[in-house]
Amino acid sequence: MDLKCAKKYDNDFHEIELNPEITLTGKETVVMAGPCAIESRDQILASAEFMSHLGVKILRGGAFKPRTNPYSFQGSGEEGLSWMAEARDRYGLTLITEVTDMANFDTVAKYTDIIQIGAKAMYNHSVLKAAGAAKKPILLKRHFGATVDELMKMADYIILQGNANVMFCERGIRTFESSSRFTLDLCGAAVMQERSRQPMVLDPSHAIGYSFGVPKLAKAAIAFGCDGVIIEVHPDRQYAQCDKDQALSHEEFKLLYSQMKDIAKVVGRELV
Ligand code: PEP
Ligand code: MN
Repeated sequence: MDLKCAKKYDNDFHEIELNPEITLTGKETVVMAGPCAIESRDQILASAEFMSHLGVKILRGGAFKPRTNPYSFQGSGEEGLSWMAEARDRYGLTLITEVTDMANFDTVAKYTDIIQIGAKAMYNHSVLKAAGAAKKPILLKRHFGATVDELMKMADYIILQGNANVMFCERGIRTFESSSRFTLDLCGAAVMQERSRQPMVLDPSHAIGYSFGVPKLAKAAIAFGCDGVIIEVHPDRQYAQCDKDQALSHEEFKLLYSQMKDIAKVVGRELV
C-alpha cells in the first residue's frame, strides 16, 4: 500500500483545524448538522439559530443536489449559498456544503468553510484535483459502491495536490438489504481508522434513510469513537424538499445531542 493518507505509525493522526475553536486531534467528535438542502432563507436561518443555541458549531446544507430523480428539487444554487453565508455571519457558525461537479466547484468554494465531496462525486477526478488545490478542509464521502481502498486512493488525488486536510465519511454502502436505504459499514469505518491517518466521520442519516433509526445509529457512531458525525435535521420536516424521510425534527435532535454528549464522555471523547 503506497498511500499518502495511510498510517505510518500507530499514533500518526492527521490533525485538521475546522475553525479557530475546533481542531480534530483524534480526541474530539465534531457534530455537523442541518438540513439536507438549503430551501429558503427562512429555513436556513431557522436551522442556524437552532444549532447555535444548542452549541453545534458546524452547519450543513446543500445548494447543489445530485438527485436521482431529475424531476425532484435540484437545490437553490448560489442564492442558497448566500443565505447560508448570511446565517454563518449572523450566528458565528462554520459551513459545510456539497460540491457535485466542476460546474459548481468555484461557487461552492467561494462560500463554504468545509467542502463536502458527495458520494456520487467520489470518482470525479477533476473535482478531487480542484479540492487538492483548495485551501479548505475536505469531507470526502465514500461512494456507496466503493471499497475502503478505493476511497483511500481517491483521497490521495486530493492530498497529492497539496491539501492533506481530508476527512473520510462513511455514509452507507449498497448491500443486498433493501429495508434500509443503505447499510452503515462500521467494519469499513474501523478499517479506515486502522489504515489511514485521516479523521473519519460517520453519516447515520443517509445510511439508514429513515428518521426512526438515525438517533440509534448516531449514538452507536459516538460510542464507536469516530471523529465526527454529520446529521440531517429540518426545522419543518413534513415540508422538506430533499431526504425528508431521514430528517430529524429540532426536538428529536435536541434530545439526541444531549445523549451524544453523555456517550462521548464515556468513550473519552469531547463532543465539539
Ligand atoms: C448529502 O449529504 O445530502 C448527500 C447528498 O450525501 P451523499 O453524497 O452521501 O449521498
Ligand atoms: Mn441528504
